[in-house]
Amino acid sequence: TGPLITDDLQRTNGQQSVLAQRSEARGVLSWPFEIGVQRGALVLSQYIHIRPWTDADEALVSRSATLYGRALRQARSEQLLALTYQRGPIGFSIRTADGVLVDCNERYLTLVGQTREEVWSTRLSDRLHPDDRAEVMAEHEQVGRGVLAEMRREARVLHTDGSWRWVRINAVHLEAPGATEPFVLTSLEDIHELREQQLAIEHAASHDTLTGVPNRATMEATIEAYAQRTGRLPNLLVIDIDRFKLSNDSLGHHAGDQILRAVANRIVSHVRDADLVARLGGDEFAVVIPQLDPSHADRLAERLRRSMEEPIVVDGRVTPQTVSIGVALGDDCESIPDLLVRADRAMYAAKSNGRNGHVIFDRSMREEAD
Ligand code: GH3
Ligand code: MG
Repeated sequence: TGPLITDDLQRTNGQQSVLAQRSEARGVLSWPFEIGVQRGALVLSQYIHIRPWTDADEALVSRSATLYGRALRQARSEQLLALTYQRGPIGFSIRTADGVLVDCNERYLTLVGQTREEVWSTRLSDRLHPDDRAEVMAEHEQVGRGVLAEMRREARVLHTDGSWRWVRINAVHLEAPGATEPFVLTSLEDIHELREQQLAIEHAASHDTLTGVPNRATMEATIEAYAQRTGRLPNLLVIDIDRFKLSNDSLGHHAGDQILRAVANRIVSHVRDADLVARLGGDEFAVVIPQLDPSHADRLAERLRRSMEEPIVVDGRVTPQTVSIGVALGDDCESIPDLLVRADRAMYAAKSNGRNGHVIFDRSMREEAD
């Protein structure tokens, strides 16, 4: 019997051979083929007394070997694909447009800390941080409807241990063959450590290292954002510790630092959440007040001044501190530099008045200064 050519698959050493010529049986072995780590060959045999081998037999073996090889290769690539989906380093989930889970892989389960039983039919929105939920779900829904081809977002998802983990969420529209509705394929990539580092760097750049409150740049950006949003300027207090050099000189720089921290904490504890407390540098602080009522700024300045009467204790010693406060009303100012200058001038006026007091900027001070 003639040798058999086989298929279009990878040929190894190309050894074709007659397998069996035992008694009346004759067989043929196809070219060996190799798919991934699997090796094989197709064997066909028949009794020669029925009829001898023909070219058609050879062709049949050849074709069968080719088909078998292809099927094997296909099965293997499907297997690999399924394995990649199941075990890959990214959390995959397949959901309906409104976020109900239809399927997910193992990494997804690890990310959220749920078992396969628990995760079934859960909603994406239930696992998202309240601050990220609305934006992510709005886009997810658009991807589901096919209005948006793809979404990419960073968000926090809830782990069953109660912690929030930062993930990068990518989602694409999925039209599965034979399915009655489209799906959304969502990948979740754990970026928690990276994101935490990023936030730490951002925090360091926008905050004062000694006291932990926002720095001057952040204060200016906050005023700018407020002006953009409302078309008005906020009220501003500038607070400077009186005779701080004396404390520094008598108690030392280290104690001075502790006083600065204590003063910052005291200011923070007396303002509203909407107010921004910043350290402008040295012993100077500021409060940006979005509440525009002038009497509110006046009362807050007085409250802050008096809050310093509560003793500040450093290394077991009481160190009395007072502050001088300048107030500038946003509605009286033309620009952000104008606001900053007025608050500063008012603060210096409070110093000239004998310290431990507050002054609201008025026109006469401007004329004096001009
Ligand atoms: P005044 O009542 O006029 O404000 O007098 P003052 O002594 O407080 O004078 P001023 O506000 O000009 O001086 C601030 C001092 O704060 C100067 C400096 O020695 C001290 N200082 C600035 N930054 C720091 C700091 O980070 N740590 C410490 N311990 N002291 C600082
Ligand atoms: Mg001072």
